[in-house]
Amino acid sequence: RAKQQGRNAYQWFTPEVMTQLGERVALRNELQGAIETEAFELHYQPLLDRAGRVASVEALLRWPHPERGYISPAVFIPLAEDTGQIIPISRWVLQRACRDMRALAKAGQGELPVAVNLSPLQFHRSNFLASLRQTLAETGLPARQLALELTEGVLMDDTEGAIDILHALRGMGIAVAIDDFGTGFSSLSYLKHLPIHTIKIDRSFVDEVTRSRDDEAIIQGILSMAHHLDLEVVAEGIECEAQHRLLMAHGCDRFQGFHFARPMPLDWLVAFLDERAPTLL
Ligand code: C2E
Ligand code: MG
Ligand code: MG
Ligand code: MG
Repeated sequence: RAKQQGRNAYQWFTPEVMTQLGERVALRNELQGAIETEAFELHYQPLLDRAGRVASVEALLRWPHPERGYISPAVFIPLAEDTGQIIPISRWVLQRACRDMRALAKAGQGELPVAVNLSPLQFHRSNFLASLRQTLAETGLPARQLALELTEGVLMDDTEGAIDILHALRGMGIAVAIDDFGTGFSSLSYLKHLPIHTIKIDRSFVDEVTRSRDDEAIIQGILSMAHHLDLEVVAEGIECEAQHRLLMAHGCDRFQGFHFARPMPLDWLVAFLDERAPTLL
């Protein structure tokens, strides 16, 4: 390929590109080490209902790196997708989430539903459903306590196959949410064909909602369409009371964001739940 491009080939091998490649290789190797030593953490961010109660949590992966601090999943998940390392990572996440929620139930916190983010590669693997069933059986987590988050893109890639899997998940009692809703290319009407439970309005709309009439209109549109289809709507990335109030006024069902709580380790979550239990917003 470089040869065909003749002189332009030099563009591919600039020092910047070499450094980026070098960094990717280094990161990939360090990620491999983290997989082998299970050096990840799973944090949990509460989602609140309209009454201000913790309705569920979302599990979010954290990679504490000895030199660089916590590396964001936004950085290493795409890399892990490319290298296939996402498969062992996802297995660890699912097992950790199931075990943690069992521990939470045993600590007297009830069956708090947990949502786990799914990677496209994981969703499309032929043994996805079998390994999911196995993890539930091994950990003893009731399927109704687990929810899965998928982005629009995953469903658009291979709609037929995807719908079969969604039906199987529904049959198992596992709720599915469409994550980052509004950022893909899907038409709103395609949702009516999908056996899903929840949509999560992308943070980018919530971010602007108090300043932009356009974003407010988009959110109103999503809410009325989703409710018409009996879907539950979550707003993610709520950072202030003004955003919360506006989304409440438009009838949003669930709220997630730094305004209420950041993602936190399991022991903090226990303390958070204990402290909040008797109070309403
Ligand atoms: P996501 O699933 O959309 O997760 C929500 C992201 O928004 C999280 O970022 C969360 O920390 C952040 N967030 C929550 N509230 C606020 C807020 O009020 N303001 C702002 N600015 N951000 C907020 P995080 O943890 O960095 O994760 C980024 C993405 O990485 C996730 O987006 C998800 O797509 C992916 N990811 C995280 N954990 C996993 C995992 O276990 N497996 C897979 N496959 N992907 C994961
Ligand atoms: Mg998510
Ligand atoms: Mg999201
Ligand atoms: Mg996101």
